Amino acid sequence: MDDISGKMLALETTTPAIVRDAARLAALRHAALLDTPAEEAFDRLTRLATKILHAPTALVALVDEDRQFFKSCVGLPEPWASQRETPLSHSFCQHTIASGEPLVIVDARVHPLVHDNLAIRDLNVVAYAGIPLITADGAALGSFCVIDGQPRAWTAAEIEILKELSASVIAEIDLRRATREAQHQAKIQQFLAQVSRVLADSLDYETTLQSVARLVVPLLADGCVIDVIEEDGSRRQVACAAAATTHESLIQELCSALKDAPDPVAEAARMGQMRQLVGVFDATEALFNASYLHIVRQLNLRSGLAIPMIAHEHIVGVITLLFTEDHDQYAAYDLIAAEDLAHRAALAVDNARLYDVARQAILARDNLLAMASHDLRTPLGVIKGYAHLIQMRIDRAETLDKGVLDASFERIDGAVQKMVYQLDELVDISHLQAGQTLALSYELTDIVRLVRRTVEEQQELAPRHRLSVVSELPELIGSYDVVRVERVLINLLTNSIKYSTRGGDILVSLAADEDGAGSWVTIRVQDHGIGIPAADLSQIFQRFYRAGNVDGIKGTGIGLATVEWIVTQHGGQVALESTEGVGTTVTLRLPLAQ
Ligand code: ATP
Ligand code: MG
Repeated sequence: MDDISGKMLALETTTPAIVRDAARLAALRHAALLDTPAEEAFDRLTRLATKILHAPTALVALVDEDRQFFKSCVGLPEPWASQRETPLSHSFCQHTIASGEPLVIVDARVHPLVHDNLAIRDLNVVAYAGIPLITADGAALGSFCVIDGQPRAWTAAEIEILKELSASVIAEIDLRRATREAQHQAKIQQFLAQVSRVLADSLDYETTLQSVARLVVPLLADGCVIDVIEEDGSRRQVACAAAATTHESLIQELCSALKDAPDPVAEAARMGQMRQLVGVFDATEALFNASYLHIVRQLNLRSGLAIPMIAHEHIVGVITLLFTEDHDQYAAYDLIAAEDLAHRAALAVDNARLYDVARQAILARDNLLAMASHDLRTPLGVIKGYAHLIQMRIDRAETLDKGVLDASFERIDGAVQKMVYQLDELVDISHLQAGQTLALSYELTDIVRLVRRTVEEQQELAPRHRLSVVSELPELIGSYDVVRVERVLINLLTNSIKYSTRGGDILVSLAADEDGAGSWVTIRVQDHGIGIPAADLSQIFQRFYRAGNVDGIKGTGIGLATVEWIVTQHGGQVALESTEGVGTTVTLRLPLAQ
């Protein structure tokens, strides 16, 4: 018992701090030599060292956290020769990496640094000469050393030879790492090309992003989750991949749990900057409900990266990479690859969305043109009819009664006015489409009268509905573009009429109020029609947007956008409240004359 605690104490006090340095250990793992079989490239050098320096033992020792591993060993006694490692209690090499200088020992038994090292007793290490193995990046991985069982005064020439040989060892290590990195980079280039191909394959980005997530694992990460940011700013997970498919549902569950926490993924989405998921998966620092920690353990997750997907300067989503290893530092080319991946995915999402918008706009425009040409046909028919009538009478040399003629011209004039109105509306819509402002022609108008007149006209066209107007005051004067405000009212009234498919009451009420900004009229149009599903409400003022419950009811989805556009250009506001199956109320606020 005493013996063991004595050993432990010795280990604690003699192991230099650099041995446990995280960056050094990361570099050691990255060299990918621990626990690999012996190889001729290294054995040749150890053999050569024993021969040239006439020493019984030579080692390429890599110093791990709590052991030294021999990538090559010549002349070690058993069981060490087969085990190819010893605990640090038996390591001289740890001191070599601590100093970063050659360590030359004539007689270990009397050397202050190692006189109590167990290698003296167990491995018969008496004389030792070791050169630290320091990579091109400056990480000390271990040492190249020769050992003798007798005290020995190493000559300067011998140390020089040892240095030359150890330079070959480190060159071999660096070369391997460079080759591996080059191979990894080539794989990443291949991967990015493949990602581009997958993304270009289809405009259905949800499917393509799932394929992309599958490509990410395991080359770039052990798990991958892709979220897209919807138009309303909400985040939606669209893809998830893990090395084992059974892990995918666990990752999904975990990432949704993350949402309730101060979430690095949300932060990446908000700030448009890469965020590391450090400490997220630690029990002590768990950002989410501790009940999810069992998933973290099961998946063995250690770290992660949340990379925003940015296209055309807006954030369309976040790619989250999850790792089963601690990643304090990511290889620069992996980070570049991750950003490149996120950029390509972002462009694909953005293009697919733009394509969708363009396709809908084209569809809506075709629809609008079809409806417009259909609507123009009615007044054209009237004009044609009356012109034909007059022509017939002239042909038959009938006397043309002035009363009849006046009536005909009045109808023709009415039809022409209607066409002009419709064409003006089309021109306005095309301005709206182009994002231009309207040139309004203001005139002082009694809005109560305008509302009453418009409601009366619409009532004539909707015999199954009962339209009524209630006004707090008999007259309310404001400065408006009458044609445009009338168009706003017509749009709201026709909506209330057509979306109240079973007829019913439609109430228009007017009220006036004042606030710091001036006097206002509030016009409310209320119906008891089909209403609008809650999910559609946030987008209902968007051009060409139609709710999900309008099946069979004709429309282009431009009316409310026009309403909002005209009202805001008058310095007013519009709001809509609706419950599906109950009804809709649209409220306009327009400024009144002072
Ligand atoms: P149009 O361009 O011919 O007016 P539209 O009526 O479909 O076509 P909007 O007036 O912009 O377009 O309305 C957009 C959508 O809002 C409608 O498609 C419908 O889903 C919903 N909506 C608007 N007003 C009402 C209402 N009063 N009741 C129920 N749904 C409505
Ligand atoms: Mg409409």
